[in-house]
Amino acid sequence: MHRRFLVPGALAAASVLLAIPASAAGASPGAPGIGDPYYPAYGNGGYDVSHYDLRLTYRPETDELAGTATILARTTEDLSSFDLDFLLDVAEVRVNGATAAFASSGEHELVVTPKVPLAKGTPLTVVVRYSGVPSTKSAYGFSTWHRTPDGAVAADEPESAWWWFPSNDHPLDKATYDVSVAVPDGTQAISNGTLQSTTSRLGWTRWTWRQNKPQATYLATLALGRFDISTGTSEGGVPVVNAYSRNLGDNEGAARASVERTGEIVDWLSGVFGPYPFASAGGYVPNTTTGFALETQSRVYYSPRQFANGSNTSVVVHELAHQWYGDSVSVKGWKDIWLNEGFARYAQWLWSEHEGEGTAQELADYVYASHPADDAFWTVKPGDPGADRQFDIAVYDRGALAVQALRNEIGDEAFFAVLKGWPASHAYGNADIADFRAYAEQVSGKSLGALFDTWLFQPAKPAGPAARSGLTARATVVQPRSWKKIAATNGVHEH
Ligand SMILES: [Zn+2]
Repeated sequence: MHRRFLVPGALAAASVLLAIPASAAGASPGAPGIGDPYYPAYGNGGYDVSHYDLRLTYRPETDELAGTATILARTTEDLSSFDLDFLLDVAEVRVNGATAAFASSGEHELVVTPKVPLAKGTPLTVVVRYSGVPSTKSAYGFSTWHRTPDGAVAADEPESAWWWFPSNDHPLDKATYDVSVAVPDGTQAISNGTLQSTTSRLGWTRWTWRQNKPQATYLATLALGRFDISTGTSEGGVPVVNAYSRNLGDNEGAARASVERTGEIVDWLSGVFGPYPFASAGGYVPNTTTGFALETQSRVYYSPRQFANGSNTSVVVHELAHQWYGDSVSVKGWKDIWLNEGFARYAQWLWSEHEGEGTAQELADYVYASHPADDAFWTVKPGDPGADRQFDIAVYDRGALAVQALRNEIGDEAFFAVLKGWPASHAYGNADIADFRAYAEQVSGKSLGALFDTWLFQPAKPAGPAARSGLTARATVVQPRSWKKIAATNGVHEH
């Protein structure tokens, strides 16, 4: 994905200091952040979630969302209290059956204090009963709940959960999900994974979805509105569920002509990255006014505007590539964003090559030649861009250049072994750039420290020997035919 806001770390850090004295010997409050320097208040300390069970009701006309979240977790330290990240109105919290005290804190913290302190290693069942109108809630002055004429959508990065369920909101704490939402008959509720059932009763239809593989909170999505749903199975055997708003207007044809190729593209990507990691694939196109796309796990979010200039399979390739690079293997911290975006962008370059519209090397040459040495583009370090440049174009284009430089350094055989082996080596887990470098060194037998430093961590255009090892030098570089469609997927950077 792409985009977006500036959420300076200093702003988020304010709530970190709100510590409450321990109520019992040995137990202290869990930290209000998981420890990510880009977003100090995101996620929480002291516990690890294994499963979210969300049973909700939604009224499209008033944007009222209500229900119960049941969270299964385990403490990782002695706790007198712990936080969840959440914005809606809470009526009751129970911890292992007993009512617990709770209070709002900071921009998006819900502090839960159980009747008795919790020892490290204690299994938790946390029940949160809540309600609210998500579109009336904001944190840091923004909202990522996207209201539509017929409902709403929760999809954004790095934060969207606060508006619809309480969570430990950071990719480090992945969990499985059951999402069950009742909506008025005629409205659909779309979420991640497989559709387990739909049942109708007294004018309401309940949609029940299951994500049976670990999923980061920002990859959980919910779309409520009037959708047409298409189902099928890819030639390679992956079940596909796509959904289209019934109000896409002139973009409908191009949206379908792109997203209906999901099965074909999943199978093609499987040839590059290895077996598809989830039980189903697909995407949905709600009638939002947003411009970005997002790799929501197994059910990709696409904005209608992505298809305003006709079909674009390149954006489908990008978001589906994330299912391996970002979703199955997630970042340890947001500084590792290159592991997501560098590879999703590089998949677009491989697709261009597959489609005969320019090779990855030609695209790399074009990017390299398009940015002179004094271009600010080269001051962004894809390996640690900073929170305010997490989705900078350089993370994508310079990031993909780094991938091409790796390919040229270790050769095609080792390179494609790395591309395919990496997702399997860290499937359903987390990794950082140092882990990736170690893996690439192990597979290739080469020392890659200098290469990674040059392409990912230096705020300057690689030149001289570095450029020669990575790229062919050409006097004139022609724009590859795929360039405009690939660049169109950058629209996402608009705020
Ligand atoms: Zn992306």
